[in-house]
Amino acid sequence: MSARLIVDLDAFAANLRLVRERIAPADHMLVVKDDAYGHGLLPIVRRAHAEGVRWFGAFDTATGRTVREELGPDARIFVWMLESAADLSAAVDADLDVGVGNALLLEDLAALGPRPADALRPRVHLKIDTGLHRNGIRTEEWPDAVARAAELQRAGVLGVEGVWSHIAEASDAEDDAARALFLQARQTAAAAGLSPGFAHLAASAAGFTRPEFREDLVRIGAFAYGIAPAGGPDADSLGIVPIASLRAEVITTDGTHAHVGVGSLDGIPSPFGGMLSVRTPGGVRRVVTVRADRLIVEGWDGMTVGDEVIVLGAGGLHTATELAERIATIGEEIAVRISPRIERVYPGAPAR
Ligand SMILES: *Cc1c(COP(=O)(O)O)cnc(C)c1O
Repeated sequence: MSARLIVDLDAFAANLRLVRERIAPADHMLVVKDDAYGHGLLPIVRRAHAEGVRWFGAFDTATGRTVREELGPDARIFVWMLESAADLSAAVDADLDVGVGNALLLEDLAALGPRPADALRPRVHLKIDTGLHRNGIRTEEWPDAVARAAELQRAGVLGVEGVWSHIAEASDAEDDAARALFLQARQTAAAAGLSPGFAHLAASAAGFTRPEFREDLVRIGAFAYGIAPAGGPDADSLGIVPIASLRAEVITTDGTHAHVGVGSLDGIPSPFGGMLSVRTPGGVRRVVTVRADRLIVEGWDGMTVGDEVIVLGAGGLHTATELAERIATIGEEIAVRISPRIERVYPGAPAR
């Protein structure tokens, strides 16, 4: 396969610095779900760790364990997609911080029993549902849940380290309403005797533009990878740079068109036929059709098998977000669709 995703880790580091300066004194939790948004988990977490990132948002237990094995004990790794008691206990054993968005999970933790003084005590971040209705403890269940968590903390079963939520970041008014519920939930937790060190609510968009949403930690994925919000300010005006460049080679030519070796099965949505332009050695050319295994691209003088074409991202014509907007989705969705079969290349990264 000729296609490659070239990931510029120096550009990634520059985005990380920008994110940190922007949200300081809040700390940055780098979200690395979905294989670090398709950029490749291990090279991303290694570089972030070398740049001083200490909080990682891993989403699921398996990803969290992989990050723990890679980075060792000084990283804080947060997971919140916990489907079962087994999942939860695996997360605790791997020294992960667990997001608890369901009071039943507290009982699963209670069932693990009091931990010996030298054992890892589950570090819990209680999630209040502030309106997204994904997972999160409902406001009406919150007082009982924090009371139960406080009881379990006193019994040595767990430690409540955080109170958190997730917001839509689609309208300021909705986010403000969510934040009001969040602040109330923190007060209720405090009144129940909990004093968690970490409150976290915002992701990229609110973290960047709304200081009052930053609290102690901001969970940022998209902007760290240079992915701007669909329908929002572009990367340039945010000061972030796309870190990935999808490239592929000409695999054959048919006189008028070049056939470029990346297609819909590799993650280029087929509706892009006719609306995508790519950078070729002969200049900018339009993609006429997206087939399963190739792009059919308007030809150029001297086009030859092996010519490199920049399809998407850095050096190309479009960012993931610009393309996403044309099919009414978000840049992350384009980034994570790039098939795992496509080799990720990290120029200049130390060999491992
Ligand atoms: C994905 C995710 C984030 C990161 O969102 P971005 O917009 O990519 O910064 C933060 N928090 C939670 C719970 C998420 O699922």
